[in-house]
Amino acid sequence: MQISKIVIAIDGYSACGKSTTAREVARILGYRYIDSGAMYRAVTLYFLNQHISLTNPKEIDRALQQINISFKINARNSTETFLNGLCVEEEIRDMRISDQVSPVSAIKAVREAMVAQQRKLGKEKGIVMDGRDIGTVVFPEAELKIFMSADTNVRAFRRQKELMEKNILINLDEVIENIRKRDQIDTTRTESPLRKAPDAIELDTTYITIEEQVDEVVRLAIARKVTPS
Ligand code: C5P
Repeated sequence: MQISKIVIAIDGYSACGKSTTAREVARILGYRYIDSGAMYRAVTLYFLNQHISLTNPKEIDRALQQINISFKINARNSTETFLNGLCVEEEIRDMRISDQVSPVSAIKAVREAMVAQQRKLGKEKGIVMDGRDIGTVVFPEAELKIFMSADTNVRAFRRQKELMEKNILINLDEVIENIRKRDQIDTTRTESPLRKAPDAIELDTTYITIEEQVDEVVRLAIARKVTPS
């Protein structure tokens, strides 16, 4: 038996374990994994480095035309994000970017440019994409939609641990503040606010492990589409 190619959309609040789950589900199913948040983070890095004014539409449009985002699999088999040919995987995880990414992502022109690229990446199906608007805007026809949430303190603690593993030391209160601020901007913005799609399955990850999250999504994917090989 072999799973035919479907689109799996994983949305939810910041730091719920979406990316870790999506990456592992993709590995198990032999699917492509796309971290759409990394794309918004790369745009934010470019805007900050080039001092792009977030209130100047012309400047934003010009900047968006200069941005080329791609993904490559490294020797450790993990995906790295490239901005105009340079690996920015580590830099885009900095608090400097986390602090600015939600205001940048709320800009209509930025969303239009990213959504167009994301749709191209998912054309062939066989993809797991995580973000905030994947099931509602990018792939409203996705065969499987998951909406993840978790208690804020638990999310902050997990995110702090993840950053510590990368030798980035951040105070827990700062992480909580960043998560709250991003959730607030992401859920209240005019353009594609974070919402659960009506047909998405809710997954509260407060009391479950990453392994359990992954098992559940894989189980749901297999239940969605199984075709004889
Ligand atoms: O997924 P991650 O937390 O890295 O995303 C960073 C930010 O990018 C989010 O807080 C949100 O503002 C934005 N984002 C978005 N739409 C997506 C993915 C991410 O607006 N599909």
